[in-house]
Amino acid sequence: MNRTTHRVTAKFSAWLLAVAIVATPIAALGQTQIKLHSNKYSVADDVKVGRQAAAEVEQKFPLLRDSEVQRYVETVGQDLVAAIPPEFQHPEFRYFFKVVNARDINAFALPGGPMYVNRGMIQAARTEGQMAGVMAHEISHVALRHGTAQATKAQKYALGAGVAGILGSILGGPAIGQIAQGTIGVYFLKFSREYETEADILGARILANAGYDPRELAAMFQTIERAGGGSSGGFFSSHPSPANRYARINQEAQYLQIRNARRDNREFLAVHQRLRSLGSAPTLAEIERSGQRYPTQGEGYPTGESTGYPNAPTGRVEYPSSRYRNYSIGVAQVSVPENWRQVSDSSSSVWFAPNGAVGSVNGQPVFTHGLNIGVAQTNSRNLQQATNEFLRSLQQGNPNLRSRSGLQRSSIDGRTALTVSLSNRNEATGRPEVVNVITTQLRNGEMLFLIAVAPNDEYANYQGVFSNVLRSLQLND
Ligand SMILES: [Zn+2]
Repeated sequence: MNRTTHRVTAKFSAWLLAVAIVATPIAALGQTQIKLHSNKYSVADDVKVGRQAAAEVEQKFPLLRDSEVQRYVETVGQDLVAAIPPEFQHPEFRYFFKVVNARDINAFALPGGPMYVNRGMIQAARTEGQMAGVMAHEISHVALRHGTAQATKAQKYALGAGVAGILGSILGGPAIGQIAQGTIGVYFLKFSREYETEADILGARILANAGYDPRELAAMFQTIERAGGGSSGGFFSSHPSPANRYARINQEAQYLQIRNARRDNREFLAVHQRLRSLGSAPTLAEIERSGQRYPTQGEGYPTGESTGYPNAPTGRVEYPSSRYRNYSIGVAQVSVPENWRQVSDSSSSVWFAPNGAVGSVNGQPVFTHGLNIGVAQTNSRNLQQATNEFLRSLQQGNPNLRSRSGLQRSSIDGRTALTVSLSNRNEATGRPEVVNVITTQLRNGEMLFLIAVAPNDEYANYQGVFSNVLRSLQLND
């Protein structure tokens, strides 16, 4: 079903491309060709997962309820959408644009079209074109279906749990927070450099089609950098360097014709004034401290600042409390030490960890002590095969992760379970750590997993805690 859709799209776009080249022979010739990546998901899958993730996002992010600002951003966004080159348009997609009331310079888009623009991004932009530049870049990720293309690369898991494969490391390593965020997590990952470059190039093209100078996108990177939004490591460590990006975008801009150039910046300035009148927006870290949850990582523009845990975890934590608190998480009920907190959650995974055990390294969340409970959709209904797939995906993202034992039989709430002990070196502290994984099958064929992490030399203190938690676990699927 997937393939058929693709073949039709490909033929159709080849035809459109031919028309476009005839219509604008000189301009089109120097432009970079953008190839679509192989994608085993259907366009309808993009729409579906994007919609699910949007629902999660809106629970976790405070949206700015200001109709004037909202209407303005939506208008700019829809003009950009109309300017997507026809070969990258998907009639099934529904793009919409919402403003998140947070100060951090950030914007992200979800498969199928939902886009969230932080108020901080709008306020950091100097011109409408700069703001539109970031939006055009994000729209390009959607139009090029980068989320599901990246999930396709992971192969091993179905949507949702593909997270584990792509984001790689859940275990005290980079991307630990991402699996914890379940559906949303998949799309907050940092795309490859190749995808980023493609989004810059298509973004530049969309800008020009919509009447903006494509060099505004390059200028926005400078603006972000000046605002300190790119200096804390994470962003540049996995993205083309900004210098390359300006150069690349400006080079592409030479071949682009700006249609019906816009010069009017008045509405943008009016919106800026309105935002200033609303007072200062909270940072994501402040929002988190006040009790609202949010994903700890964004794609593209966010940096260490926006993770909410700007520093590496110290790994110095309080001894686990002997009092336990009950949590109900999806299909499971579980008791964890009272001084552990739920760090980030979603419909598919939750972390519990003590203060001091959570932080970020190079913009990536890292844990030193704690427990992750989640559900993965696997290709196999055979628990052993499913567990092995899961372990392979963990190892892909955690090069230091080694099995210390084979799979052993165990039980969770009376059900057959498999357990394995692994060793890792913590990315923040460099300390050797124990990682225990236990899995069992749920009635719907999905796999429940628990991952327990503690430093080697403290493991003796945690072993009992982990067994208590495991014993308390009740499944109600
Ligand atoms: Zn990007």
